[in-house]
Amino acid sequence: PSISLYEMLERTTNKFSNHPAVSFNGAKMTYSGLLDNVKRCAASLQQIGIKKGDRVALMLSNCPEYVIAYYGILRAGGIVVQINPRLTSRELGIILKDSGSKLIFVLDSVADIVFSVYDQCPLETIIKVNPINQTSSEFQHYLQTDSSNLQPVHINPDDDLAILQYTGGTTGVSKGVMLTHSNLVANVRQQDEMFKDSLVHGKEVVLGVLPLFHVYAMTVVMNLSLFQGSCIVLLENFQTDQVLNAIKEEKVTRFAGVPTMYIALNSHPEIENYGLDQIKVFQSGGASLPAEVIRSFDNRASAYVLEAYGLTESSPAAIAFPPKPNRKIGSVGLPLPWTEVKIMDIETGTTELPVGHEGELILKGPQIMKGYWGMREETEYALRDGWLYTGDIAKMDHDGYIYIVDRKKDLILASGFNVYPREIEEVLFEHPAILEAAVVGVKDDYRGENVKAYILLKDGFDVTEKDIIDFCKTSLVNYKVPRIIEFVDELPKTQVGKISRVALRNR
Ligand code: ATP
Repeated sequence: PSISLYEMLERTTNKFSNHPAVSFNGAKMTYSGLLDNVKRCAASLQQIGIKKGDRVALMLSNCPEYVIAYYGILRAGGIVVQINPRLTSRELGIILKDSGSKLIFVLDSVADIVFSVYDQCPLETIIKVNPINQTSSEFQHYLQTDSSNLQPVHINPDDDLAILQYTGGTTGVSKGVMLTHSNLVANVRQQDEMFKDSLVHGKEVVLGVLPLFHVYAMTVVMNLSLFQGSCIVLLENFQTDQVLNAIKEEKVTRFAGVPTMYIALNSHPEIENYGLDQIKVFQSGGASLPAEVIRSFDNRASAYVLEAYGLTESSPAAIAFPPKPNRKIGSVGLPLPWTEVKIMDIETGTTELPVGHEGELILKGPQIMKGYWGMREETEYALRDGWLYTGDIAKMDHDGYIYIVDRKKDLILASGFNVYPREIEEVLFEHPAILEAAVVGVKDDYRGENVKAYILLKDGFDVTEKDIIDFCKTSLVNYKVPRIIEFVDELPKTQVGKISRVALRNR
């Protein structure tokens, strides 16, 4: 039977009421403390006039208030619109208008940007949150409301939306992905099932350094932890030393990161001293984890990094490595429980391809979105006969393991040949001087597109363009070898920390 996210939190609280749920800056909040705050927040929202189906925006960094407000909005019947606090006013305006958000919880330090778009949006209420200096935080006021006034709200988990998650920085058009309560609870249960032999309810400590406003951390860090009765240790941003200290001091047992975080951990000189061996599960997702990064991380901790694949439209986890598999480096693992996958021909999307063939990956399962907010055509294109067309190229092996080749839209057409940037990046990562690399196609009058590599070198290395090109020539056929190399001091990252090929293409 389906339940709402709030009911999920209530059940966990019944079991683990005195366990810590959230730890932030050394202070801990128990499950019963969290639920109490959630109810007070929900009662305040009802008093302000928030009703079932109203959109309420959350524009916060990682902090306990995030968790309280998220569940408070859901308890009041609202739909959470999660927003990156670093967006520009133009980007923010688009989301607030499209979603029709009535109220926003915003980080005090970026509130000005909300005021700057206030006139063009349907916003009625702005609540400022100051997680560091709580006495000056307006939010505290909303936690004083007596929760005995809280009115019941009937939620139909299979139909009612829990969140609207905006994606599409890559295509230029912002799309609000509609995810129901059932979608999000299902994705939590699917992962709980997958980890049933390694994660114990009521026992785990999870590091929350990925931003909660992104669908990856929302599900994998926040909601999964609250389902399992774990304690979430929240950090505002990724600084390697801080992360390692938190792992040691808080005795973290589960860590979820993106590939750039594993690259940073790999290059830390004293990583051995930080107790990574107590961690039972390392998760990586959001982008492909280069094989070379996996191999060097294997020497630093006793648990494997388990890669997973997903997208906003699938809540997000769809394919993952179970904890004790025969690991196949290069694959993202097997479909999650209750998830089906197929590989379809790229041109029409109508013929299923046999094992070993590259085609578009399509997905079916309880975690697949309801559609895009107010976009019928886009929804019909993405969801066909109940299958989600991911726009990713993949292949399957004889054991059913999935290999993500690349995104359809990142494909480079060089002199008529298809070049997948990821393959070139994998080769570049094998070079001892390269810390990070990204490959994109750039327009060329003669060849159509040229393969261009952006490269960030490790400290203390000095190599030339020619060195890199010669290195690539030893592993790649001529048309795949990057013709242009640009050394950079930094690579542009998306909100969750993935290297952004779009930003590079737009340069
Ligand atoms: P935007 O918000 O601009 O649309 P995005 O396209 O990155 O950003 P997400 O839904 O966050 O949106 O990302 C999903 C995509 O990330 C997938 O379609 C896939 O291309 C990529 N991806 C996720 N996990 C993996 C993985 N393990 N290996 C390879 N690619 C991955």
